[in-house]
Order: sequence, then C-alpha cells, then structure tokens
Amino acid sequence: MDTGQCVHCGLCLSACPTYQVTGLEAESPRGRIFLLERLQDDPSVLNDNAMRALDDCLDCRACEEVCPAHVGTGHLVEAWRAEAAPLLMERGPEAMKQFRRMTRPMGFFLGSPQGLRWLQRMARVMQKPGIGRWISRLKFVPASAQGLARGLPKQIPHRLSRTVKPRPLSHPRGRAMLFSGCIMDAIYAETNWHTQDLLELGGLEVTVPEQQRCCGALHLHGGDPDQARRWAMENIIAFEQSGAATVVVNAAGCGSTLKEYAELFRGDPNWEPRARRFEEAVEDATAILARLDLPALPSSEDPITLQDPCHLSHGQGIRQEPRQLLMRAGYRIQEMKDSDRCCGSAGIYNLTHPEMAQALLHRKVQDIPAGVQWVAAANPGCLMHMQSGLSDNPRAPEVVHPIDLVWTAYRDAGQIGGTS
Ligand code: SF4
Ligand code: SF4
Repeated sequence: MDTGQCVHCGLCLSACPTYQVTGLEAESPRGRIFLLERLQDDPSVLNDNAMRALDDCLDCRACEEVCPAHVGTGHLVEAWRAEAAPLLMERGPEAMKQFRRMTRPMGFFLGSPQGLRWLQRMARVMQKPGIGRWISRLKFVPASAQGLARGLPKQIPHRLSRTVKPRPLSHPRGRAMLFSGCIMDAIYAETNWHTQDLLELGGLEVTVPEQQRCCGALHLHGGDPDQARRWAMENIIAFEQSGAATVVVNAAGCGSTLKEYAELFRGDPNWEPRARRFEEAVEDATAILARLDLPALPSSEDPITLQDPCHLSHGQGIRQEPRQLLMRAGYRIQEMKDSDRCCGSAGIYNLTHPEMAQALLHRKVQDIPAGVQWVAAANPGCLMHMQSGLSDNPRAPEVVHPIDLVWTAYRDAGQIGGTS
C-alpha cells in the first residue's frame, strides 16, 4: 500500500468526516495523501498546518472503503505517525503531544489486570452523586474528560470479566476464547459476561484467559507500535494456550486491530505466521452469534436503531450481522441516516480533538430517529461518547451494546439465566 496508488479522483472526499465538517481539501483523504507524497520528496513541507491536517485524521477508514484504487489512507497516516513520532513530540500540535503524554500512563491502566481494576474503581468514583460536579470545578481536568464521564454506564461492575471460570458444556460445538479487552473488561464487564452466556446458548464453550492484554489499538493509532507488538505477543500466546479455535471479540476497534496482527510482525519468521493464525481465528461477536442460529424470538414493537462503529463497518465490513442477530432476538430496527459515519469517539480522539469530536457528535445525535428506545453500538468508545451527547436529555434513548439487548431478550424469554 503506498501513496502512489492514489489517482486523485476525489471519490473519497464526501465519505471523510473531517472534510464534511471543514470543507477543506487538506482535511480530506486526498489532501492527506498529497501531503504524505510531498513529505516523501521534501520533509521541509511539514509545517504546522500540514501536521494538523495529518493529526486530525480519525483513522475511521471510511475513505478506504470507497476508494477505487484501494488506497489505505488511514493505514498510511498511522504509519507516518509511528515514523514521525519523535518529531511530532517536539513540534506537533498540542493535542498530538497530549496524546503521546497520555499513552504512557494509559499503558499502566490498560495493560494489566491491576491497572484495569484501578480504572474500574476510578470510574465508580466518578459516578457518585456530587463527585461529577466537584470534578468539573478542577481546572486541570479538561472539559472533554468531564464529558466522557457523563457517558459512563449506570452500573460499573466490581470485578473484571476475565476472572470468570470456563463453564463446561455437555455437548459443546467447539471452544472459543473471549477477548475481554481493556475498557470492555473494566467498564463493560457485563457485556462480556452476556457475550459468554450467548455463545454458550449457541453451543460454544468459552474461556477468558487471565493473561490476555489490551489489543494495542490506541498505541498503534498514536504512533507507538512497539507497545502494541508487546501486547500482541501476549495475546497470541494466550490464544495458543487456550485450546480455542476462535477468538471472539465484541469491541469493534479491538476486532479490527486483532485482525491485522500479522502486519505488526511483517518479516519476522517466528511471529508473523503465529500472528496470521491468530488473526484468522478472530471473529466479531455479533457475526459469530448470527451464524450460530440462536432460537428465533417473537417480534417486539420496541424500535431500536444502530450506530455502525467505523472499525466494524469500514474496518471489517460487518453491517448485516448485528442487524440479523437483533432481529432474531425480536427487535424492530429503524435505520439511522449515515449510521456508519464516525460519531467522533475514535479511540481517545474525543479527548485530544474535542472540537471536531463534538461537531461530529452533534451531527450524529441529530440523526437518531425519533421515538427509538435504544441506540445500539458495538464499541466502548462509541457507547460512552454517544451517551455523553444524550446525557442532558432525560427523554433521549439509551445507548447500549447490541449484545446486551440480545442477552436481555433471551433472558426475558427464559432461554438463559441471570447475570453470569
Ligand atoms: S484516495 Fe482513492 S478515492 Fe481518494 S482521491 Fe485517491 S484514488 Fe481517489
Ligand atoms: S481515515 Fe477517516 S478521517 Fe482519515 S482521511 Fe480517511 S475518512 Fe478522513
């Protein structure tokens, strides 16, 4: 994949969220490819505007899906960020530096079970009545982080999902490893338990290895592929030791990264083939559950809508499977306009680029069809970001993971027990 593949046709422009908001060529995929091409010939063109245009890319991959020449703009920007990391730390826009400063402490919180337990405790504290107001008075806490706190789910569990013991089934159809993730494990552990219950309903035995790590997406997107590689190795080992044939993941961003692990080890004779076997085993939870033929439930009248996370729709080409699964569980779907347009979450983009993230969130909230009871989104970042955008309106729909909706329908139908 290289910039030379671009034929400058401009078909990607209308798909790019940053171009839609600004109308600027530099903030479009074609503009970014043009900049990357010029940088190869003459590094001195990297002025502040050029850096900002490359930094503003959401890595949402919408442009890659529509490009007739198969140019991987998101991938190319990501590769450039990794290469230019030292220079960006010195001269980059403040948001870019902020991101890199944040990746170190994030490594502690996201990379170990102890760090995740701390994250879980902090999230519970943020939810206590009055604490949010007190935090909002602290000058060093950016407004964007306060906004994110408003998007936290109502219940945050007291334990991680990876502590669940495998439950043997009498006649299993196979064994799956549940990739528990980092934010999913700490903040949305219930969704992981629900995923396990549904996979078991479909006949799969589920293991949730303790030693697995964060997928590395945030570090990879922020230009730190070494950390992403270290965690990838641990995830590959956890899978090899699990005895599972499939790695099931319910977070779109993680799934997209896990499916590209071989690229991280390109040219490494030991790790590349192991990473390839791993990525070939990765399946999105809604896709595998749609295939497992869960019992069809009677239709309900409650309408829901879906937000298609970028890394599920553009990144993995998965759009129909969550809809099939939800309809099988009896839900009626009312489609949202441009449901695969980025909501502005994009990892921690909403923290480092609050203005663009809020502009995209505002457009997204306007597009939610009137009268729906829930907005389903299969990615933790989208869940929190969109919930924060609706938190001021008591009549707004709740933003939930589609797995939670499906689990609730099967629990209410008596097909599965209570919370794991
Ligand atoms: S990136 Fe693709 S769609 Fe965009 S201008 Fe280049 S060739 Fe055309
Ligand atoms: S990855 Fe997204 S934000 Fe970046 S250039 Fe492509 S469409 Fe635009």
